[in-house]
Amino acid sequence: MSTIIALSTPRGRGALAVIRMSGEEAIALAQQMSGLDEVEPRRATLATLKRPSDDQILDQVLLTCFPAPHSLTGEDVVEISCHGSPAVVRSIVDTTLELGAVLAGPGEFTLRALSNGKINLAQAEAIRDLIAAQTDAAVKQASRQLHGELSNALGPFKEKLVEVIVLLESALEFVEDDLPTVRRQEVEQVLAVVSSGIEKLSQSYSAGRLLQEGMRVAITGRPNVGKSSLFNSLIERERAIVTDIPGTTRDTLSEAIDLEGIPVILTDTAGLRETTDGIETLGIERTRRAMGDSDLVLVVLDGSDDLGPSDQELLNQTANAHRLIVLNKSDLPSFKPTPCCVEELQPINVSARTGDGLSMLREAILASVNSNEMEDGSLLITNARHYDLLSSAQGEIEMARAVLRDRHSEELVLAPLHNALRYLGQITGETTTEDILSEIFATFCIGK
Ligand code: GDP
Repeated sequence: MSTIIALSTPRGRGALAVIRMSGEEAIALAQQMSGLDEVEPRRATLATLKRPSDDQILDQVLLTCFPAPHSLTGEDVVEISCHGSPAVVRSIVDTTLELGAVLAGPGEFTLRALSNGKINLAQAEAIRDLIAAQTDAAVKQASRQLHGELSNALGPFKEKLVEVIVLLESALEFVEDDLPTVRRQEVEQVLAVVSSGIEKLSQSYSAGRLLQEGMRVAITGRPNVGKSSLFNSLIERERAIVTDIPGTTRDTLSEAIDLEGIPVILTDTAGLRETTDGIETLGIERTRRAMGDSDLVLVVLDGSDDLGPSDQELLNQTANAHRLIVLNKSDLPSFKPTPCCVEELQPINVSARTGDGLSMLREAILASVNSNEMEDGSLLITNARHYDLLSSAQGEIEMARAVLRDRHSEELVLAPLHNALRYLGQITGETTTEDILSEIFATFCIGK
């Protein structure tokens, strides 16, 4: 396997930069460039790196060696902490390339860790998610998954499935008759428990996805109700997220804020205004687009004014959307807290001007995403691939249950159960056939 090298810290100028090497030649290359005969493992060693071809000094650095297998990748790893100048970094990397190292591809260190069994697939994905995390809550979820919590959560489900498979396979092998009714019922119960456990986990994806990707909230309403004012006051009072959330245009329309750990991407649909002015700008298309893209719609009405036909139209259009009704301009004397037609919609009264009612609005936004799940410390599914695999696994288990209820042969129950186990195994990237086989053989007598 080649020795790979890459800058591990962000590009650009900084006090320090960390370059990482992994592979058989990593330690030898570090020795060659530093002139040290030996570098003590897992200790930072001060060294002067030189280019062997002309003895030119590259930088004074700290070298830390992690001999295989006790390293990030399971291979020999060297970390070079050098001065954070792009020129210094380039000269060090170029020198290692001259000496036979190759540039690492994207994620190649993690890939090597995976193929050397240092981490499983879900953990590899958690590393990616941790790096992409935007808020404290997202960091927490990613670190939990990095520490193997997802694999641990799946463990009992897999064990139960293996037990059931073993039982059914043994019945096929040894028993002349069908599985007795009692055993069938037992199997059915076990499968019901596994299925609901998997379902609960996969349902956490609605909250987990928001944590990872951000919750899209569109502010909509007819012109002059105060959408932009509300947008601005929500943003000003929150900690803005400085890095980009993928898919967020960082123009004036959308801003990402951190609402108690949940990244919220606010879109002011006033910015999506189409060509014409006036009441027609409340185009159906604009509202539909905003609604289609969002997890929540804030329907803003001017509480100091009578509701007009376009307000009514908007209320009708959003009737089936996940929405909150916001009555703005509560600071004005003419404000009517509960206009007749929205009473039962439980509007939230706010003043974008004075900030009154905004905390209530924030709470309502959070409540709308079922943030209980995020707060009660449960593990959340944050990854679409995991969600798909969990759903597929659950579908297969449900199919097995149906077959079982219809009293078909064990063989027909087994096929979906094997599929379910395979789907669960794909989450962590392991192969499952081996453990099934060894479990089955463990139940056999010697000599059989
Ligand atoms: P948009 O067209 O819906 O984006 O509305 P704007 O945010 O541009 O606001 C329209 C007008 O209403 C502006 O003159 C704002 O200053 C005013 N406005 C917005 N919110 C409030 C509020 O809470 N109270 C008062 N008194 N005026 C507001």
